[in-house]
Amino acid sequence: MAVQPKQNLSMDSASESGFINFFFSMPEKPDTTVRVFDRNDYYTVHGKDALFAAKEVFKTSGVVKNLGSGNKRLESVVLSKMNFESFVRDLLLIRQYRVEVYKNKAGGKSSKDHDWQIAYKASPGNLTQFEEILFGGGGMGEGAAGVVGIRLGTGSDGQRVVGVGYVDSTLRKMGVCEFPDNDQFSNLEALLVQIGPKECVLPGGDVAGDIGKLRQVIQRGGILLSDRKKAEFTTKDIVQDLNHLLKARKGETVSSAALPEMEKQIAMSCLAAVITFLELLSDEANFGSFKFTTFDLNQYMRLDNAAVQALNLFKGSSDDPTGTHSLAGLLNKCRTPQGQRLVSQWLKQPLMDKNKIEERLDLVECFVADSELRQSCQEDLLRRFPDLNRLAKKLQRQNANLQDCYRVFQAVGQLPGLVLALERHTGNHQVLLNAMFVSPFNDLISDFSKFQEMIETTLDMNQIEHHEFLVKPSFDPTLSELRENMDQLEKSMQSALNSAARELGLDAGKTVKLESNAQMGYFFRVTCKEEKNLRNNKKFTTLDVQKNGVRFTNSKLSSLNEEYIKSREEYEEAQNAIVKEIISIAAGYVEPLQTLNEVIAQLDAVVSFAVVSHAAPVPYVRPKILEKGSGRLFLKGARHPCVEAQADVAFIPNDVTFNKGEQMFHIITGPNMGGKSTYIRQVGVIVLMAQIGCFVPCDEAELSVVDSVLARVGAGDSQIKGVSTFMAEMLETAAILRSATEDSLIIIDELGRGTSTYDGFGLAWAISEYIATRLKSFCLFATHFHELTALAQKVPTVCNLHVTALTTDNTLTMLYRVKKGVCDQSFGIHVAELANFPKHVIANARDKALELEEFQNISKVNEEGVDAGPEAKRRCMEKQEGEKIIQSFLAKVKSLQVEGMTDDAIKAELCKLKAEVVAQNNSFVNEIVSRASNVKNISV
Ligand code: ATP
Repeated sequence: MAVQPKQNLSMDSASESGFINFFFSMPEKPDTTVRVFDRNDYYTVHGKDALFAAKEVFKTSGVVKNLGSGNKRLESVVLSKMNFESFVRDLLLIRQYRVEVYKNKAGGKSSKDHDWQIAYKASPGNLTQFEEILFGGGGMGEGAAGVVGIRLGTGSDGQRVVGVGYVDSTLRKMGVCEFPDNDQFSNLEALLVQIGPKECVLPGGDVAGDIGKLRQVIQRGGILLSDRKKAEFTTKDIVQDLNHLLKARKGETVSSAALPEMEKQIAMSCLAAVITFLELLSDEANFGSFKFTTFDLNQYMRLDNAAVQALNLFKGSSDDPTGTHSLAGLLNKCRTPQGQRLVSQWLKQPLMDKNKIEERLDLVECFVADSELRQSCQEDLLRRFPDLNRLAKKLQRQNANLQDCYRVFQAVGQLPGLVLALERHTGNHQVLLNAMFVSPFNDLISDFSKFQEMIETTLDMNQIEHHEFLVKPSFDPTLSELRENMDQLEKSMQSALNSAARELGLDAGKTVKLESNAQMGYFFRVTCKEEKNLRNNKKFTTLDVQKNGVRFTNSKLSSLNEEYIKSREEYEEAQNAIVKEIISIAAGYVEPLQTLNEVIAQLDAVVSFAVVSHAAPVPYVRPKILEKGSGRLFLKGARHPCVEAQADVAFIPNDVTFNKGEQMFHIITGPNMGGKSTYIRQVGVIVLMAQIGCFVPCDEAELSVVDSVLARVGAGDSQIKGVSTFMAEMLETAAILRSATEDSLIIIDELGRGTSTYDGFGLAWAISEYIATRLKSFCLFATHFHELTALAQKVPTVCNLHVTALTTDNTLTMLYRVKKGVCDQSFGIHVAELANFPKHVIANARDKALELEEFQNISKVNEEGVDAGPEAKRRCMEKQEGEKIIQSFLAKVKSLQVEGMTDDAIKAELCKLKAEVVAQNNSFVNEIVSRASNVKNISV
């Protein structure tokens, strides 16, 4: 819980009512926008926002105070600067809300309390104005923030076209993309996963039929939607705007000839809307700084949101809100913020080009094989690089200071050591390592040579030890004079320390120290233990008491300090012109700094993959990559990397085999909690890991490049879902699967768990058959519908697998071993037993299950028989009809409302149903019934 701020929101009644009037006159806002009022030394939030802040920040409504009264009552909460910062961070980075900060022209507490104006604002896709607050303390671990604009249009052939324009103001990139799409917007969904925007603008007021679905797709990806005026989606000024914003390409201006994307009018209008939304043109620092990139949807493996969830790529998935078990969490062992951002990006953009994949794998192999290089990079060298992208942006805006320049200087200074370590490597891929890292680093060292010289000659390196970033005194006679004076003062303060120590009976430099910081200048400090020596000594004034001691001063030190601060201010004043010059020269280094940022990020990401591959409980292996279309996927001893990383799991590896034309569709059945989901998901995770160029958790792996991983995962709580939801789920699955090809990997898990609906089952069957016979994709289907396993008899490429468990009378032990064939027992009851269900419920269930199983087993025996001769046709017809009768019987049995019924009543119902079956006089059925009676004495 946050510490409650000491400040009170104190206003006289005039300003209070002025503020309340102002507040209620503000335009309406959605709940996802939070308005904060800056009152100089603290902040306030009001109304609904106040209640929200009380709950989120302080976890108590006790902090809510009321301004005014009656219907002019306004809830208020005061936030200290620290509360404000963490609140804003939470709102923007985690909740993906918008924030607006208002300032009062007259200073916040005066009677002009109706004169508030918006001072700055941010949304998840546009964090520029909050960058310091959000990332000042550390790196930007998350992926880049971006905004997309989306509009639907019609192509020349009359087909629906989706236009997308996007801008990433952190990475200074923009681009467009235009493509046809289906009803479910599968292409758009895949594109949004790949770009990973935080926010989306749409033309407001559009209510055309598909727009609702479009909104759903966007929101499913956790992207914040903002409606904008339709008029903003116009290409009227786009050429001119791009000419301002884009980096000049060799003196060219933007035109259709120079930029073929100009033809994509729908997408361009979206880009225009995003540029307006981000107000890019109102900040000159943006001019000439953006790169235009083209986005080709087919360049990367496509992932739908369900796959992102099912493979648990990022934190925040529903089963793992803390993200400890996400793939990003596992693979991200980067040492720099830029490396972390790149790993997140790579996860969203798995490669499709075999050569590019092999290239990354080669690099990872270098670091897996060379332990010394891996360790020195990971544990030592990479840590020394700050967030160079942030520094580049500061330099570009010319709001950098000498400390920032020094940090660049320091980073560049680390390069020779890094090059030396990389050059020592002598593995198979030395040439690649050189081309990717050594030679770019060497180029950068020479690009920065003049910069390094400038910093060395201008910065006072002696003072940097004291965390002061000043220009060398020798640079200017005024500076030398001031420096001399300051040195003198420092000496005098040292003797002041000696006399204070004598006075207090302490040891100068040991038990009492002279220290300084930026806010207070110089002061003495004793540890809390020595504090008693100070007590009652009127010659000393305590400044503050902290954990590490008591800071104090005396009149001598305080006057010397004052003089010192004055001199330092004069020094800063005098060096101002020189600093300006340095900063403006440094601004010329933005481009090489961004290049350095990229190369370091790549190195960091590759080293991170190598570290993870090497440090896993069983080290990962390099996968053998086959061209797309090879139709083979073979994993020996495959493991789920995130599950096996959990401390208490002894993971059981399993094999996976797909072969074009032989086995392409695996149905996995078996007991609840038996490891079905884990098994099918691990295949997806491994395929993805291989295509981002990482080693994989297998003993051996051979994989064809896949073009997409698509998933359908039933909601965890589907037990309470109704039939119609299940049907909707299946219909949606059918539609989404339309974007799959024979090179796609489809993962279907837990559809319709617990719903005994034969309509749903029919669809599940139809979908499976469609995938297996038409799409011929790689598919894994985990199900509780044992009936689905019969598909294997119809379609040769369908295989049945089951997860195994050991049962004795009262126990059930999961073996997690995946075996060929159908699971022959229903373990649901054992699981219920283990979960301490009441005894009579279990007994009842066991009876019912037994009866059902008899029928199913026997019908299986019959299916295996081979018919021949003229009699075959008749028997075949009888059999088909018989199967229908049994299916209908099973459906009726399953839909029995047994809750609340006694055992006898259930038996009576069953007898009735069975009598109906027998009455139909089908020879196939009769045979089963008579066999069943022999196997177990079921009375009819
Ligand atoms: P349900 O049918 O109830 O959804 P499931 O069959 O899909 O269950 P999982 O969710 O995959 O089962 O696995 C349940 C638990 O078993 C996992 O949380 C994991 O801890 C453990 N587990 C799964 N597979 C393995 C394995 N191969 N080795 C060791 N433990 C495993």
